[in-house]
Amino acid sequence: MASRRRRWSGRIRGADAIITEGVLGEDFSEITERALDAVRTWGPHLLMVVFYVGDTFGHLFGPDAEETLAAIEQIDAMTARLLDTYAERNLLDETVITVLADHGHMRVDEVVLADFVEQVGALPHGRLALAPGELATGEMRALLNDPRVEDVYAREELELLGTWDTPWGERVVALREGLMFPDARGRTMRGYHGGFTEAEWHIPLILSGPGIAAGARLDECEIIDLAPTLSVLLGGTLPQQNEGRVLWEILDTPLSPAPSRATWDSGGRRTRCWQDGRT
Ligand SMILES: [Zn+2]
Repeated sequence: MASRRRRWSGRIRGADAIITEGVLGEDFSEITERALDAVRTWGPHLLMVVFYVGDTFGHLFGPDAEETLAAIEQIDAMTARLLDTYAERNLLDETVITVLADHGHMRVDEVVLADFVEQVGALPHGRLALAPGELATGEMRALLNDPRVEDVYAREELELLGTWDTPWGERVVALREGLMFPDARGRTMRGYHGGFTEAEWHIPLILSGPGIAAGARLDECEIIDLAPTLSVLLGGTLPQQNEGRVLWEILDTPLSPAPSRATWDSGGRRTRCWQDGRT
């Protein structure tokens, strides 16, 4: 079948370059070469490199599988090559490096048939089933008593979990750890994500470079905190619709005063905690 590989100039709104396996349909070593080439030839002010191989292997083999760990080691090696190239170009002292994942993975032990959620009109997807309408009391009770179900979330709870702006419907059924619904394309998976467990939510975040205090450690943060933090480091202004907070506690800049968290969040709606995932 013909590949639908897309060539991209690398320039998009709001960033100098985003180089990603997913969009370009290339593998991680090609992506790395493309990123190295960008650093060497035109030195983008903002470079974002996305490696999908960890996620792909997490799905195929499971989050703790040898294959997945080997893929993550490959990403480490590619990241080291990128850092070396920044060093060769004498750019490391003026570059903030951020390494993070966008989600974790839950090991899949068993695929469960979706008939019991489809009966109540919910649409299965991965480890969740989304119900567009409100469920009858009896339906709710049956789901909550089902040993396959971890919890059934209401819209307000989803807002607290930070998923408020997406079309989740009125209720979301979350499966217990280790379970998932059949994949729409019939693939067997050993790992999945999208639920609300620590394994799926907890991600690494590493920042290094000018303006970042050496050895500083964050007690809590969210991905949405990254954009305002990098904006401060770049000397920019925070967008009005910004929902994250500036991670002042790891910044080593004369730019404070540190505002309270409330200044930067949206009315306390997002209070997810780094450590326990559901606070
Ligand atoms: Zn995935």
